[in-house]
Amino acid sequence: MRVAFLGLGLMGQSMATNLVKAGHEVTVWNRSAGKEVAGAKSAASPADAARGAEVVWMCVSDTNAVEQVLFGTGGVESVLEAGMVIVDSSTISPTATQKFAERVRSRSVDYVDAPVTGSKIGAASATLIFIAGGDEQVLARIQPLFQAMGKQVFRMGETGKGQAAKLVMNLQIALIYEGFAEALTLATKLGVQPETLIPLIQASMVRSGVVDYKAPFVLKRDFSPNFPLRLMQKDIHLALDAARELRVKLPALQTVEEIYDLSSEEGQQDLDYAATLTLLEKWAGVQVKSNNA
Ligand code: NAP
Repeated sequence: MRVAFLGLGLMGQSMATNLVKAGHEVTVWNRSAGKEVAGAKSAASPADAARGAEVVWMCVSDTNAVEQVLFGTGGVESVLEAGMVIVDSSTISPTATQKFAERVRSRSVDYVDAPVTGSKIGAASATLIFIAGGDEQVLARIQPLFQAMGKQVFRMGETGKGQAAKLVMNLQIALIYEGFAEALTLATKLGVQPETLIPLIQASMVRSGVVDYKAPFVLKRDFSPNFPLRLMQKDIHLALDAARELRVKLPALQTVEEIYDLSSEEGQQDLDYAATLTLLEKWAGVQVKSNNA
C-alpha cells in the first residue's frame, strides 16, 4: 500500500521501518529535519508526504501535535482525497479525536484511532498491540499495515474508543509501576535486596508484565527512555481530564500525577517513567540497587 508515515520518534522510526520491510511504499515526514528511514522517501511537509497516499499514519507526541500535522500550515488537510484513511497511533484526547475524525469525514476520508502498547521494544520487533477505534470495514482494509507493525489489534468500538481504552491502560501501568517502586523503596529501607524481592513478586499473584519489563532496567539503574516520563505524564493528565469531564474520582492517579509533576520539575521528563523511583528514594534516603549490578 502507499503509506505516508508522519512522526519519526522513538516509536514512529521503527514502525515506519517495519512498513518498508513488509514491502509497502512509504513516504516519511518528521518535524525536525535529519530523521530518515532506509527504503522510504522523505517529504518536506505532512501534505507532501500524504499527497497520493492511500493511508496516512501518524505517531506524534500529543493532541496539539496531531492537530498541527493534520490541520496546521503544510498539514494533511490540503491534500485529502475521498477514500483515504487517516490512522493515529499517538496517544491523545478521545474527544479531540472525535472532532478531528468529523472534520476529515466531511471530505469522505476515514479516520481510525489506533494507539499502541508495547513500548520501544514492541515497535522495534513489530510486536505492538493496536487499540483501535473506527469502522470495522476500514480496519479490515488496513489490516496488512497492522500486521507489518504489530501482533494484535483490539477494536474497542467507534472512533475515539481506541484512545479511551489506551488511557485506562496507561492509568493501570502508572499505578502498577508506582506500587512496584514504593515496594522496592520500602524493601530496601527494611534491608531486603531488590534481586531477592523481584523473583518472589513474579512467582506470586503480585506478578505483572509491567514488572517483567521494568525490573531489568531498574536493577541496572538504566533510566534511558523507552517510554519517556513526559509522555506518561501527558497520559495521566489526559485520563484525569476525561475523569473530571465525567465526574469520576481517581484519587490514586491524582497522587501519582503529583509524583510525575515533581519528577518533571526535577528535570527527569526526558528519562524513562521508571525514573519516578528516584523521587521515592530521595524522600526515603535510600537507593534501590542490585548487589549484582
Ligand atoms: P517521541 O520519541 O517523543 O517522538 C515524538 C514525535 O512527535 C517526534 O517525531 C516529534 O518530532 C513529533 N512531534 C512533537 N510535537 C510535534 C508537533 N507539534 N508537530 C509535529 N510533530 C511533532 O515520542 P514516542 O515515544 O515516539 O511516542 C509517540 C506517541 O506514541 C506518543 O503519543 C506516545 O504517548 C505514544 N506511545 C509511546 C510509547 C513508548 O513507549 N515510547 C508507547 C505507547 C504509546 P521532533 O523529532 O521534531 O521532536
